[in-house]
Amino acid sequence: MNAAALVAPVRALWAEDALLPGGWAREVLLRWDAAGHIAQVEAGVPAPAGVARAAGPLLPGMPNLHSHAFQRALAGLTELRGPAPDSFWGWRQRMYAFANRITPESLEAIAVWLYLEMLEAGYTSVCEFHYLHHAEGGKPYADDATLSLALLRAARRVGIGMTLLPVLYQRSGFGAPPAPEQARFILGTDSLLALLQRLAPVAHAQGAALGLAPHSLRAVPPESLQAGVAGLHALLPQAPVHIHMAEQTREVQECLAWSGLTPVQWLLDHAPVDARWCLVHATHMTAEEHAGAARSGAVAGLCPSTEANLGDGIFDLPQWLAHGGRWGLGSDSHICVNAAEELMLLEYGQRLQRRERNVLGSGAQPQVATAMMLQAVAGGAQAAGRPIAGLSAGQQADFVVLDAAHTALCGLPADSALAGHVFASHRSSAVHAVWVAGQQRVLPHGHALRASARAAFIRARRQLLQA
Ligand SMILES: [Zn+2]
Repeated sequence: MNAAALVAPVRALWAEDALLPGGWAREVLLRWDAAGHIAQVEAGVPAPAGVARAAGPLLPGMPNLHSHAFQRALAGLTELRGPAPDSFWGWRQRMYAFANRITPESLEAIAVWLYLEMLEAGYTSVCEFHYLHHAEGGKPYADDATLSLALLRAARRVGIGMTLLPVLYQRSGFGAPPAPEQARFILGTDSLLALLQRLAPVAHAQGAALGLAPHSLRAVPPESLQAGVAGLHALLPQAPVHIHMAEQTREVQECLAWSGLTPVQWLLDHAPVDARWCLVHATHMTAEEHAGAARSGAVAGLCPSTEANLGDGIFDLPQWLAHGGRWGLGSDSHICVNAAEELMLLEYGQRLQRRERNVLGSGAQPQVATAMMLQAVAGGAQAAGRPIAGLSAGQQADFVVLDAAHTALCGLPADSALAGHVFASHRSSAVHAVWVAGQQRVLPHGHALRASARAAFIRARRQLLQA
């Protein structure tokens, strides 16, 4: 393919098979406008002359609804056992030590590489749950937005969509003052709202969205939670609110001791939880909490590889779905950066727990990979607060083309090819090409910035390990 062909404004693609919000369709013509929004999706039309043909099944781009970018450089460094049984809390101490060495330059290098990896693995947008606000030791930068801007810049450089969620973090535990190793995270509620105002024009200029992430009930006192959410919605009425919830049983016990209520119940009783909210993890919920949280319209933010890596537990997705609950996928600590692998792990956790097969298929959509992908795209888009809910008019033209010639897919019908991609193609991705807002970001040989971004990431990680 020559360079001229890459920049020509074709704005249409034809696919033999495409996964539309209602399920698989044959002979689909997708058209989008100059702003990168889908103008038309037509099924059952022969390939028009002059329009490129997709090299395989066409999928909606997967939103990644939960990311802490800097943690990608920590992957592989915490898989060792000490004298005592290890847990989330031991991992957290190692993560804090690492977080305290991050510089604006290293954060940008790590994020550029991570976001590029996301694109190559089928994610077309990311919600960045960003809690590093200050310099090493907690000393404020001249501009509170320094590290937020590094993340927005990284997303713009590689062409991934972004919802940036600056984090409200004020306590080390229920009612306890912050610990010294958390000094970089601490920001007053007014300062956080001022930061959002400062970021708004920058985010807008690149099509990014902003929201707020009260870190967790243990890190944000009730009055700050209330003021932060009210302030956000005065500024940006539709903006998403993401919060870590009930990830660990110790957190549930501490919340009970503090308030007499489990975390999700406390939140439902004390905060205006609705469809703008994303409850990240929500692993440990009672039957009443499943029903109440699902009824609120909030999205459950599931991060299967991180939840497995940290020993969190298994989210009861069938129970959540029975209440009409919505969900999406996050890669959180980035121990794994691959949308297909996250779907596989999510289904496998349910199978292991219940000793059943094909748990997340349904009567309406028996193909498990198809059912999961459609639900995760819809829930991820809702959590992102951006028009990225799949292949339909008005949504952003974010999509992934699978390689029909990949061994795991070759000769299979489209729904089985997607199952091959999710359950059988790992470590040799079947992603062929990725488009964001109508622009091709991943070519058959990878992202254009791959070599330089990889080198910068390795250099940044080496420096962090020597610091
Ligand atoms: Zn997280």
